[in-house]
Amino acid sequence: MGIPSDLEIATAAPLRPLQEIADRLGIPEDFVEPYGRAVAKIDLGVLDAPGQPTQQRAKYVVVTAVTPTPLGEGKTTTAVGLADGLARLGKQVAVTLRQPSMGPTFGIKGGAAGGGYSQVIPMDKLNLHLTGDFHAVTAAHNLLAAMVDNHLHHGNSLGLDPRNITWRRVLDVNDRSLRNVIVGLGARIDGVTRQTGFDITAASEVMVLLSLATSLDDLKERLRRIVVGYAYDGRPVTADDLGAAGAMAVILKDALNPNLLQTIEGTPALIHCGPFGNIATGSSSVVADLVATRRADIVLTEAGFGADMGAERFMNVKCRIAGLRPDAAVIVVTVRALKAHSGRFKITPGKPLPSELLAENPDDVRAGIANLRKHIQIIEGFGIWPVVAINAFPDDHDSEHQVIRDLCAQLGVKCAVSTHVADGGAGAEELAGALIDALRHTPRFRFTYESDAPLTAKIEAVATQVYGADGVDFAPAAATALASYERLGFGDLPVVIAKTHLSISHDPARHGAPTGWRLPVREVRAAPGAGYVYAICGDMRTMPGLSSHPNAERIDLVDGEIRGLS
Ligand code: ADP
Ligand code: MG
Repeated sequence: MGIPSDLEIATAAPLRPLQEIADRLGIPEDFVEPYGRAVAKIDLGVLDAPGQPTQQRAKYVVVTAVTPTPLGEGKTTTAVGLADGLARLGKQVAVTLRQPSMGPTFGIKGGAAGGGYSQVIPMDKLNLHLTGDFHAVTAAHNLLAAMVDNHLHHGNSLGLDPRNITWRRVLDVNDRSLRNVIVGLGARIDGVTRQTGFDITAASEVMVLLSLATSLDDLKERLRRIVVGYAYDGRPVTADDLGAAGAMAVILKDALNPNLLQTIEGTPALIHCGPFGNIATGSSSVVADLVATRRADIVLTEAGFGADMGAERFMNVKCRIAGLRPDAAVIVVTVRALKAHSGRFKITPGKPLPSELLAENPDDVRAGIANLRKHIQIIEGFGIWPVVAINAFPDDHDSEHQVIRDLCAQLGVKCAVSTHVADGGAGAEELAGALIDALRHTPRFRFTYESDAPLTAKIEAVATQVYGADGVDFAPAAATALASYERLGFGDLPVVIAKTHLSISHDPARHGAPTGWRLPVREVRAAPGAGYVYAICGDMRTMPGLSSHPNAERIDLVDGEIRGLS
């Protein structure tokens, strides 16, 4: 019954020769470096080689969603299916996505290569090592950590305060036991004893700066600017002060080249970088988008979480740094998500859905639709056109889709039902048509704030203009830190707000489109290497744990074949 599993579909799909995929983007063979038969890296030399395009020509479209629920809204599947749908309508198209982190693959969820007949293949390589970029980030990050401890061991000439070292270590494994560790135990020759900890590789500042770098030179410049901690006199100590940036750049040289894969239907997919959505931008790389937007008619890229988080950071941080301007946004919505946003159901991750949620009930959809309306307004606030993609599930009902269509008609927003998971690109043709229509309008893109506004004003602008908060309450420590960042010269950086993704507010219990609330900023931190300052509202975990029965227990190798990856 139903469609086969994602892994079965992905494994059965024939792989086209990679050069054929590269040809669809007009990437000459000289710049295609095969990593085996199924994946290639694109040599970034293609960005400034003689005769190669140097300007954005594509319409640049971000795929975002309503506020996420534990049910999964389907941004990745929709980005992939819509790319295939556009290709079927004769468009030259590319999709750019994050590389999934291995930690969560073995933890709570399966792969992140799409689903059903809208997947990037080969999904096993994509969900595991791919071309080793994550390992390179881990190595570069930990080399810097080793150089920090080595500096303390050899006399600490920079006066680095061991109690004020912010640079931790990283690993691409969900391991809560490493959140807090003591290093340097043992004899005098075994280093200086101090407390530190591990984050997941996706949360590394090196991962974010790799995703935001526009060239090898820019990568090196960002590596130099990484702040590892503060000296006794309060001065920031950088990777440059430790002489580490050059070696880190060497480790990361190949990792800066985007990875070319294909969808099941042969559409080019650039899979590159995977910064954590909680504290970072959560978008795939700038360089992949530079390559794709100079060549395709339309480039689709996914931004994590809902439009309040992923799309906002995509526009205000990624596009600002990349110099790219978006033309439209696809907002993915599901009937089940809107029902969940009604607040009428109790949904427990990992447990079957309550049967009442699956029963036909347009009223429940209506009760949650304020959330979609707010996300549409958020996108319109950036001056670009939203297109609503109803990602159809087998247990949806037409009457429920109609509620969403009615709202969109009332707001004058294009909307289409898409069945790409069950039907591949053919199921996304109506959506592809709606997007092409929306792209006929000229966007009037605007940022939420200008780079030279004070950091506090930037945070307030996002909170009030994007989230709809009445204002921001800065804890005293946050206000002090922001003032010191202005003094240290970080004031022109954009901001990332780390809050829950389960509500447009900071409080996961507030459903729909919350009003009458203020954003509490508990703490702020600087990531000058990556190129932003982030404000923390609530508890942000940067090293996930495993559940009592992690996915790893079900993943196996049987007769040389991988089982249980999704
Ligand atoms: P997101 O990118 O928003 O996190 P994904 O596209 O990765 O979401 O989808 C989340 C999960 O939901 C995946 O396991 C995917 O296979 C599943 N899924 C998404 N859309 C559908 C659909 N229309 N029908 C069935 N399963 C779906
Ligand atoms: Mg996704």
